[in-house]
Amino acid sequence: MPYIVINPELCKECELCIKYCPYDCIKIGDEINSKGYRFAIFVNPEKCPGCALCAMMCPEMAIEVYK
Ligand code: SF4
Ligand code: SF4
Repeated sequence: MPYIVINPELCKECELCIKYCPYDCIKIGDEINSKGYRFAIFVNPEKCPGCALCAMMCPEMAIEVYK
């Protein structure tokens, strides 16, 4: 099953990955990283086909996709 891994320390809470994910598999979580950002988290994993749009859109290269 495809999945993504988001590096919390690289995330700057820009929400681009959330905007571009076609399956609502990413949201901003409640925790805060060391830079003070609420970082993105992977949700609804059963819906993710591993399209990698999120990783392509992330300006911080914080997302890795595994298929
Ligand atoms: S790989 Fe595609 S479906 Fe999965 S979280 Fe990223 S944008 Fe969403
Ligand atoms: S696109 Fe990258 S930096 Fe922006 S919210 Fe998503 S994981 Fe964080």
